[in-house]
Amino acid sequence: MVTRALLLKLSESKRLAPFIMSNDVSRRVARRFVAGETLDDAFEAARILNKAGLSASLDQLGENVNDETGARSTVDGYLATFDRIARQRLDANVSLKLTQLGLDLNETLCEELVGKIVEHATSLGNFVRIDMEGSAYTQQTVELTKRVRAKYAGVGTVMQAYLYRAEQDVQDLLRLGCRLRLCKGAYKEPPDIAFPNKADVDANYVKLMKILLPSGVYHGIATHDPAMIQATKDFVREKNVGRDQFEFQMLYGIRTDLQEQLVREGYRLRIYIPFGTDWFPYFMRRLAERPANLMFFLRNLMPGR
Ligand SMILES: Cc1cc2nc3c(=O)[nH]c(=O)nc-3n(C[C@H](O)[C@H](O)[C@H](O)COP(=O)(O)OP(=O)(O)OC[C@H]3O[C@@H](n4cnc5c(N)ncnc54)[C@H](O)[C@@H]3O)c2cc1C
Repeated sequence: MVTRALLLKLSESKRLAPFIMSNDVSRRVARRFVAGETLDDAFEAARILNKAGLSASLDQLGENVNDETGARSTVDGYLATFDRIARQRLDANVSLKLTQLGLDLNETLCEELVGKIVEHATSLGNFVRIDMEGSAYTQQTVELTKRVRAKYAGVGTVMQAYLYRAEQDVQDLLRLGCRLRLCKGAYKEPPDIAFPNKADVDANYVKLMKILLPSGVYHGIATHDPAMIQATKDFVREKNVGRDQFEFQMLYGIRTDLQEQLVREGYRLRIYIPFGTDWFPYFMRRLAERPANLMFFLRNLMPGR
C-alpha cells in the first residue's frame, strides 16, 4: 500500500519524469506497457491485435496541457487519427483525457474541442471514450460527458468502482444511454471519497457490473482481475446477456494469457493501446498496480545486466 501510494505520488513529479524518460532501462521496461512513441507504432499494434480477433482503443499519452495552442493541435491529431482508422478499416476507437484538451485551462474551450472530436467520430460511426482521471476532475468529466452525449451518440466515459459516488454517476449516465467503461480506478484517492480496501472496491465493481450489463447499452468491463472476469461471465450466463452486448477491456501488455483465453472462449475484448512520448505518468501508474512490475524494473536497473 505504501509503495503504491508513493509511486502514484511520484507519477505526478515533474522532476523525476525527465530522468526516468531519458533512461534506457526505463524506456525498455515501459515498452512492455506502451506500444511505441508514434501513431504508426499504435496502428501497427492495433493491426496485430485485430488480426488475432481483438479490438483496440488508441490512447495518445499526455495529460495536463496548459495552453490553448497545445490543446487545439491535439484536436487536429485526433481528427486525423479517426480518418486514418476509417481509411485503413481498423477495428479501433480512441480514448482521450480531458486535461489533454485544456480542462485545466478553460472548461468551455475543452468542451468545444471534445465536441469537435466526438462530432467527427460519430459521423464516421466511431466512438470516443473519455478516460476518467483523478477525483479533482470527476465532476467536470461526468457533466461534460453528459452535455456532449446529449448532442452526439459517439461518446462515453469511465466509472471508477473505488469511488463512493460511482453508483450514482452510473445511474445518471445510464439515463442518457451513455456507454460506460467500468474499471477499479488507478489514482491515489483519500478514504472520504474512495473505498480504501480492495475487497470493498471489488464488491462495488461487481455491483456496478450487474447494473450496467442488463441496461441494454453497450459497456466495457475493464479489468485483469480473474475474479471480476469470472463474476461477469457468471452474471451474463445467468441473465442471458449476449456476448455481443458488452466487451471486456484490458491494457496493452498486461495479462496477455487472459486476453488470449477470453478471445478463445468467444468473448469480445478491446485492448487499450497507449502510445506517445509522454509516457511517464502512465508507466508509473502501471508500476504502482503491481509490486512485481516494480521489482522487474528495479532488477533491470542493476548494473551488469
Ligand atoms: C481498458 C482499461 C482502461 C482503463 N481506464 C482507466 C481510466 O480511465 N481511469 C482509471 O482510473 N483507471 C483506468 N484503468 C485502470 C484501472 O482502474 C486499474 O487501475 C487497473 O486496471 C488494475 O485493476 P484490475 O481491475 O486489473 O485489478 P487489480 O486487482 O489491480 O489486479 C488484478 C490482477 O491483474 C493483474 N494486473 C493488474 N494491473 C497490472 C499491471 N499494471 N501489471 C501487471 N499485471 C497487472 C495482476 O495479475 C493482478 O493480480 C483502466 C484499465 C483498463 C483495463
